[in-house]
Order: sequence, then C-alpha cells, then structure tokens
Amino acid sequence: MVCCASLIVLALACCWRSASFAQNALPTASPEDRALAREIFKQLTEINTTDTPKGSVTAGSVAMQKRFLGAGFPAEDVHLLGPDPRKMNLVVRLRAAGPTTEKPVLFLCHMDVVEALRSDWHTDPFEFVEKDGYYYGRGTQDMKDSDAALVATFLRLHKEGYKPKRDLILALTADEEGGKFNGADWLVRQHRDLVDAAYVINPDSGGVELDHGRAVVADVEATEKVYSDFQITATNPGGHSSRPRPDNAIYELTTALSKLAAYTFPFELNEVTRTYFTNLSGQETGQMAADMHAILATPPDLAAAARLSVEPSFNSNFRTTCVATRLNAGHANNALAQTAQANVNCRIFPGHSPEEIRQQLIGIFADPKLSVKYVSDSYIVSDTAPERKAMAPPAPIPEVFGPLTKLTQALWPGVPVTPVMENGASDSIYFALQGIPCYGFSAIALERDDDRAHGQDERLPVDSYWKSLDFFYSFAKAVGKDRE
Ligand SMILES: [Zn+2]
Repeated sequence: MVCCASLIVLALACCWRSASFAQNALPTASPEDRALAREIFKQLTEINTTDTPKGSVTAGSVAMQKRFLGAGFPAEDVHLLGPDPRKMNLVVRLRAAGPTTEKPVLFLCHMDVVEALRSDWHTDPFEFVEKDGYYYGRGTQDMKDSDAALVATFLRLHKEGYKPKRDLILALTADEEGGKFNGADWLVRQHRDLVDAAYVINPDSGGVELDHGRAVVADVEATEKVYSDFQITATNPGGHSSRPRPDNAIYELTTALSKLAAYTFPFELNEVTRTYFTNLSGQETGQMAADMHAILATPPDLAAAARLSVEPSFNSNFRTTCVATRLNAGHANNALAQTAQANVNCRIFPGHSPEEIRQQLIGIFADPKLSVKYVSDSYIVSDTAPERKAMAPPAPIPEVFGPLTKLTQALWPGVPVTPVMENGASDSIYFALQGIPCYGFSAIALERDDDRAHGQDERLPVDSYWKSLDFFYSFAKAVGKDRE
C-alpha cells in the first residue's frame, strides 16, 4: 500500500504488476448481460446511420438515450446535442462516487457507418444476421460493435452500482466516415466541458490481429498523422493551341509535381514509432532486423531507413508524406489551358503543422507563379493552413498500458501489446489537436485477411464480441481506479 499511496501513475503500475491474472480470469458477462449487449448491437446495426438521405445518426443517439434514461442515469448526465438535427451526438457520464480532482476518461465512439447497398451484399446490410458464428451487418466491424459493447458496459456498471473514482464518459458521435458535422471535432471545440478528459480511449483503431485463429499482436494506436489537402494551381492567359506560348499552366504544374515526386521528407522517429520498431525488430531476422536496429541508433542509420522505406507502410511511419491525388486542367482540346490544378494529399508527422508543410511545398515547387492553398475537411479553400501541430505523442502511460497489457494477456495469452502510429486518420486527431492524448484500442480480434470495414458482407465473429465486452468491463473499472 505504501507504493500505491506514493504516486498515482506509478502506484497503478505497481499495483497492476503485483496483481496476478490467471488465464481467462476476467469476470465474464452473465447470460443476461450478454443478451442485453446483443440486443443493443442488433438495434444499433439496424438503425441506418449513413450520411445519406436514409441515414440518421440522431436515430441511433436517441435510441441509446432512451436506454440510459430508462436505466436510471440522471438526465443531467445524458446529453443529446449536435449542430444538425440528423447529426446529434450522445454524451453520457458515469459519475465518480464523490468529489475528485482526477480528470475523467473519455470513450470515443463514432456512430455513423459507410453506405452499403443491398445489391452488393448477401444479406440486408441493415439487418443484424447471426450466421455460422458471425454477426453480419453494416458496422459490425466499424464500429457498432464497440459502440454497443460500451453502451452495454456503462449500463452494466450503473446497474451494479459501480462508482468510479473519476468520471467515465462515453461519446457516441456523428460523421467520422464523412459528412459536414464531425461530432468529435464539434464536441471538443464547442462543448469541451462535456468531453474534457485526462485521455481518450478510441476503439475505432487498434485491435488484436488473428492468424488462422491464433492471436498474434495487439495494436494500440498511440498517435496519428495529420491529414491535409493542398490545392496547387497554375494559371495562364491561355489562347489558341495552334500558337503555344513559352509559359504553360499544364507544364508548370506537372514540373512542380515532378519535383514533389523526387522529394523525400526527412526521416523522423517519435516515442511511439520507436517502440513499434523496437518490438518489430525482435520478430524479424537478417537484414530486416539489422536495419531496424540501425534506425533506432543515435544517430539513425539513414541508409538503413532508405532500405526499409521501400515498404510503403514503413515509409509512412518514418516521415511526412505528400502525394498528388487528383489533376484537373484545360477546358478544350484546341485551347491552351488557362488553369491547371492538382490536389496534393499530405499525411503530416506529429509535431509539424499544416502551414509548415505548405511552406515546404512552396519551397519544393520553387515557382512563385503557382498558388499553394489549403483545403479544409469541409472543402473550404484558404490561402494559409492551420498553424496548430498535432502534439508529439507522450510515452505510453502505465495507467493505460498497465491494465491494457494485463487484460490482453488474460484474454489472449502471450500476445504482445504494441503502440503504433496510425497513418490514416480517426476522430482521435480532434482531441489530440486540443492537447488530449488518445489511445486507440478496440479489444476486437479479427483475422488479418477478414477486414471488411467499409466493404461488403461486413461481419464480426460472435466470440470477438463477447471478448470485447469482457475487456471493456474490466478496463473501465481499471481506469476508473476501482481497487476492490
Ligand atoms: Zn471507424
């Protein structure tokens, strides 16, 4: 107890270290708890939350609001709010037992799903079908599974009279997959008081990778790159194509893009990618292992980094990347182009701002006649880009990684927990931009070759759902600082 009383973060780590979990010794959900969790999963899957005329995130939020209020959550702890009638978010708070100075923990779950066409599927995507050990339906992987598991977990904790030592918050949000009303961004900027937290757990990323049923690794997203689009434009007076001029919008643009193609942003590592490659190097052999060790040295071996960069996923982990993704030029076959335009999509390494990268692009193009503008998520074009940097990730904190490791070991014995940097984007970025650390872990185990998110016949193994349910119950209690 002495060590537990001394320092909160260390205390937790030391308590977790001394606790011994036998294999599969987690408290498991009762048959009634499972039945309710399945019912919620079915209900959410069957509510169409696509960003289409048929879809409504609000319908999902209202259905869950009814469940929380019906279960006896106080009305002041269940907030339905949003900037659009069809895009209402739900924020639920499980209150601490008494006054506390500990900041809450936020579970962030998007409720919207990608459109699915009945004609593309073998079952109705908005019907929850259990077949051959799987749940089928749009969102069963991304991410109605975790939405439902967390709703069920909050309801169960409340039913059991569990009082955390800090507030636990669940936010069910709109427009992660697309649409103009991103709920995570809106909530953290407009209603910070409702979602302010010591850190965010986002089950939209990470998870356990299965290889023919064998759990291999548990990925935890500990940071992500910043998504930015830039609009590059060359203009010209144009004229008749029978009389070409020395200056030409298409040639100026393509010359600039060729310079970008030849350019490589500098090699970088942060706490997360360093840990990732340290862990990975232990599983590799030969030149690959040697190169991984070499990039971790001080100073890093850039020749080794160049060899590893041939693999696109490694390259993305090493640096900011910018690549031309769209082109548009000219207005007639027999006219000189008056405008040539490209979209350049950048994935910016944490610690750099979009404006910093915009300035670098201007330097790379080295053509003052080109304009380099920023395109926002809602397609608004502006002369400058945001100065805000995604924070460089903190070292994985014991308060999160302690229980995460213990629980992972209990559910998937021997599987290493590895922090990773996401090269794509999730809603975590909106919280990270506001200085709130985010950890992405789904507690969902999936076969490596069965990722059907956004695709047809999306499905989840039934057993994966039960495991995630047991995981979140114990994890919520751990970060809620339950020490029963
Ligand atoms: Zn998702």
